Amino acid sequence: MEIENMAKIEHLAEIMVKSKSTVVLTGAGISTESGIPDFRSPGTGLWEKIDPMKALSTDALYRNPERFYKEGFQLLMDVQGYEPNVGHKVVADLEEKGFIDAVITQNIDGLHTKAGSKIVLEVHGTVYTGHCERCGKIYNMADLDLKRKSGQVPPKCFCGGILRPDVVMFGDQLPGCFNDALQYVKESEILLVIGSSLTVYPVAALAGYTENLVIINKTPTPFDSKAKMVIRGSAGHILTSLRGKIFEKN
Ligand code: NAD
Repeated sequence: MEIENMAKIEHLAEIMVKSKSTVVLTGAGISTESGIPDFRSPGTGLWEKIDPMKALSTDALYRNPERFYKEGFQLLMDVQGYEPNVGHKVVADLEEKGFIDAVITQNIDGLHTKAGSKIVLEVHGTVYTGHCERCGKIYNMADLDLKRKSGQVPPKCFCGGILRPDVVMFGDQLPGCFNDALQYVKESEILLVIGSSLTVYPVAALAGYTENLVIINKTPTPFDSKAKMVIRGSAGHILTSLRGKIFEKN
């Protein structure tokens, strides 16, 4: 690892040990090392194959369900079944030892919870469940998948209502947990952003609510100039090294 990054990680470990509250905000970049492509990485990002703004939008869901349940829905199903990587595990370990208060994630893959993190705010929802828009009954996504594969598009509830995935689409309101996320950020001493391009709003705006922003990301973000520290590189390596330094100091 570069000497400059090592010095930054050492410093980050020092301030995290002293911090009364550190909150983590993660994006698709923390899950690429599990094999799930992000949206924007050149060459591998989903954006190059399909336009998620179109495929994963309320416009597609309600105006063109045939297309949504063929393309957008399949994108969501493809995010299922992966395992957490070392980055998710470090975040869970640091929460367990009291160095992280909460994880706010834009990811819909459920990997923070699978890695053992306890306080996880999934502000863009999850690919594992869906619900009926009329009666609110919760379904497994596998049930929606079976219904669409048997030709029921859009899939319907027993009450006749339309079923949809519990993923926040372009055009949707954010869930109530977004307000909790904002509160966590406002009350935190450090906001540590990991693997996010910080371009998807309103979640990206959370980075503007802290005095102590630290960013771990492979590529530049629009918030780099506001950040107290930017560590450029792969989340798994950097977080492993950070955990080592924090545990050395305790
Ligand atoms: P994004 O695709 O816009 O940005 C990901 C960022 O992570 C990029 O800047 C990239 O340089 C960086 N990155 C990639 N691999 C990395 C690594 N190993 N270490 C460090 N940085 C790495 O993702 P976003 O900011 O989360 O926004 C995209 C939207 O897409 C979100 O709303 C999210 O819900 C959704 N999404 C989720 C998943 C998932 O759940 N795994 C996957 C794709 C997209």
